[in-house]
Amino acid sequence: MTKESKKKASVYENVTKQFNKAADLMGLDSEIRKILAKTTNEIIINFPAKMNDGRIEMFTGYRVQHNNVLGPYKGGLRYHPAVNIDEVRALATWMTWKSAIINIPFGGAKGGIQFDPHKYSLTELERITRRFTFALGSNIGPEYDIPAPDVNTNAQTMAWILDTYLSTQPPHERQRCTHVITGKPIEAGGSLGRDKATGQGVVFTIEEWAKDKGFNLNGATYTVQGYGNVGSWAAHLLKPHGSKLIAVEDVTGAIANAMGIDPDDLTAYVKKTGGVKGYTKAKPIDHKTLLSTKADIFIPAALENQIIAETAPLLNIKVVAEGANGPTDPDGDEILQKKGIDIIPDILCNAGGVVVSYFEWLQNKRSEFWDLEEVDNKLHKKIVNAYERVRETAKEFNTDWRTGAYIVALRRLETVYKERGIFP
Ligand code: NAD
Repeated sequence: MTKESKKKASVYENVTKQFNKAADLMGLDSEIRKILAKTTNEIIINFPAKMNDGRIEMFTGYRVQHNNVLGPYKGGLRYHPAVNIDEVRALATWMTWKSAIINIPFGGAKGGIQFDPHKYSLTELERITRRFTFALGSNIGPEYDIPAPDVNTNAQTMAWILDTYLSTQPPHERQRCTHVITGKPIEAGGSLGRDKATGQGVVFTIEEWAKDKGFNLNGATYTVQGYGNVGSWAAHLLKPHGSKLIAVEDVTGAIANAMGIDPDDLTAYVKKTGGVKGYTKAKPIDHKTLLSTKADIFIPAALENQIIAETAPLLNIKVVAEGANGPTDPDGDEILQKKGIDIIPDILCNAGGVVVSYFEWLQNKRSEFWDLEEVDNKLHKKIVNAYERVRETAKEFNTDWRTGAYIVALRRLETVYKERGIFP
């Protein structure tokens, strides 16, 4: 890796640049700026787990808590070889902005374990997850820090975390602690609509964008990078609009079919085989071809730093709907703006997940169970309100949407800090 690309790979540096740009433009209070520029707690845990053959392996897990002035720390857990402190710091900080924009009483956190879960059996994954949860101990808690799924973790992972956490609580405390984690299976206290929530939020923001632009989604073409939870749900939910999926990439490869790919058929294939590679109803393409595919909408729904100085010039689309966190770096942003490509920024576009996590948390606290219609309606309202706030703020400051979104978040955080003051 060259010095230059090493520098580019710092995701936290991207967050800092985005933050500074917005803070300068809005004239964020300089004292509050100092607080928000730092994470609060950074927990790194090396822990052992027993493998199926009796060996012990050591793992490194992270939990970074950025800020909790608006409410308990909140954010996902990622299992991936690239998880490191820089990435987790960035993801935790984005969570603070996201909760603030969407107007829910949560702060920002993120965590993960640096390993490739595909190389481990289900029983090993369970032991790794349980041991990490045990090691986190009281660093998480239903009113303190509430994890959720992210890349390579799912409802099953959350169920193991729930069970481990509850097992370490005194028996009389257990029933009132189920909201220590969100994204749980329905039977274990999860919410209807949480599985599709992030993809649903992505589609709600695309609908708003289309309304604003007078753009017809019926017959519109789109491409997706990452066909996991977020990417596949977004594609499934765009289907009723009559939009056409024409290219998809995941970690196994990329495929294209100008006539359209059926999202649900592809999801069934991916569930069976583990990836889009080898899907016979489309032809294989390479990464560059995926990015250069002419389409109306591009939904990045994989990892950070995908739209950068080298790749942004390739894009031939009208709008990027950022399902992933941090898919576009500041250089990429500048190039897209010059090309006249709209961006629905991650901290708005993919906020649906944390909104329905908040609904799940509320339902657990109140021993309620909402039907899907109620969850969807409430989510829609939250996303549309946030979308409008971001649009109006970008207009007010005559700036891009990402900076507008940051200003919405920073204004709310600034107000709360000013009202509460700094202890002592
Ligand atoms: P997931 O594990 O379900 O899916 C990840 C997808 O990305 C998979 O299809 C994988 O093959 C693909 N991928 C991984 N590395 C890739 C690479 N190098 N090139 C191309 N594709 C690659 O994860 P997810 O939950 O869908 O999360 C995807 C993104 O959305 C992440 O950035 C995550 O932080 C963000 N996000 C997720 C949620 C949520 O509720 N799950 C909420 C907000 C944001």
